[in-house]
Amino acid sequence: MAIHLENSNVATRESRIGSITGYIGTLSDLAKQSGCGTLKGCSRCFSQSSSCLSTCALGQLAAIRDVAIIHHGPAGCSVEGARRYYLERTLAKKRGVTNNTVYVGTGMDENDTIFGAADTLRQIILEVYRRYSPKAIFVSSSCATGIIGEDIDSVVDDVREEIDVPVAAVHCEGFKSRIWATGFDISDHAILSSVVKPPRQKRDTINFKNFYESARPEIIEMFRNFDLEPIFLYCNSTIEELSHISESLATTCICGTLGNYLGNGLEEKYGVPYIRTINPLGVAGFETWLREIGKVTGRKDKVERYIEEQRAIYIPQIEEVKKELKGLKAVLGMGPGYTFEVSRVLNELGIEVVWALAWHYDKKYENGDVPPSMEYLLDNDIDFEASVADQQNYEVMNILHKYQPDLYLSRHPGSTVWAIKNGTPAVYVADEYMIFGYKHTLEFAQAVLDSIHNRSFEKNLARRVKLPYTDWWYEQKVDTFLEEAGR
Ligand code: SF4
Repeated sequence: MAIHLENSNVATRESRIGSITGYIGTLSDLAKQSGCGTLKGCSRCFSQSSSCLSTCALGQLAAIRDVAIIHHGPAGCSVEGARRYYLERTLAKKRGVTNNTVYVGTGMDENDTIFGAADTLRQIILEVYRRYSPKAIFVSSSCATGIIGEDIDSVVDDVREEIDVPVAAVHCEGFKSRIWATGFDISDHAILSSVVKPPRQKRDTINFKNFYESARPEIIEMFRNFDLEPIFLYCNSTIEELSHISESLATTCICGTLGNYLGNGLEEKYGVPYIRTINPLGVAGFETWLREIGKVTGRKDKVERYIEEQRAIYIPQIEEVKKELKGLKAVLGMGPGYTFEVSRVLNELGIEVVWALAWHYDKKYENGDVPPSMEYLLDNDIDFEASVADQQNYEVMNILHKYQPDLYLSRHPGSTVWAIKNGTPAVYVADEYMIFGYKHTLEFAQAVLDSIHNRSFEKNLARRVKLPYTDWWYEQKVDTFLEEAGR
């Protein structure tokens, strides 16, 4: 699907790539239906709360160094600002840089929601520019401004004449998409349309979209073997760096859900190839990904040498741990960029996935293909029960109770904690690099083993916690609240 950078608004994942938040069935059925175009999402007549997409959109932008986020909405919408203030400064300090990004809420009140606050917004933008001298300004909408039709684009166009740094309207009305990952696309759209410049030259760099760049030093070291320099996006990026990402040899990402829009946008607009393989998690993922980078950047031999060296170190150790993991059963609940990738890695380690929940599901990516992680599982005859649920933890609990797995894996603490209270050993796959490459795959396998060997914490906690779920709920089929089930 074409990316329209001349329009400041981004279509939602639901309408652009057919993403859904409700489904229960099997992986093969999900893939078959998405492949032939018949997949329809189900809605729920009962649903637990979810997240606002502005958290993803503005969180990504606030991680860029020395910019200003102006969140035009009621005070409650800007609550993320407090977390961002702490998080961005901590991540910058860890890397040894400073980040003076400011997050300002316009605090719309009742009067503003009736009469509009475009003039106030204009004054706030100019005052933020005068007071903080940011390197770029991102002006965000909210549900309230969306409902009253506040013309943020006109205000932004108007102030551009008075401000000599990039200023972009960022349309993130929470009500427009149930899928918080739409926020990632919104932030990418703002960067592509207001910051990235056409290439002046090609450089030996590779754009690497990630969350918190925790494995930065070792990835720089790894790419040095191929004479490539990674540019990590957007955590601690500078606006100057971002303006040159069209000059890189390729774009890649640690998670397809996170990087898909930027990768496709850079390819479509500036011809920067996007690496469309399974992700570099586990052995198969890492090798497939590296080989594609070698092919696209003309470094095949160097990549093969590196794979051979690293295999000799790590594969025997991974094989050793696998002996103890064989036969374990797991349930997992994550964003789709990880659910189907981690399922593949668990299969590689000999752990059987009995149920996988994805917080949403992208029917097809921007280029029209089914996500590569899905394709890989099907090509290798890996199938299991699967559901799509936007972190509906009551459904997770029903599944855990029925299947009694050895292990629950999630990338969200709000989900992991419920499994622990249920007495199920849980691994919180918090860090995006926790299963990256050979070394971290080995560490991940060891972490799984540790959580299996020592279950006392979960057992003790479960004995002392009274869960809100009744026997009635545990006896229900997990799809009880799904309507128009496409099962
Ligand atoms: S933009 Fe809407 S959904 Fe998001 S925090 Fe504000 S009111 Fe809530």
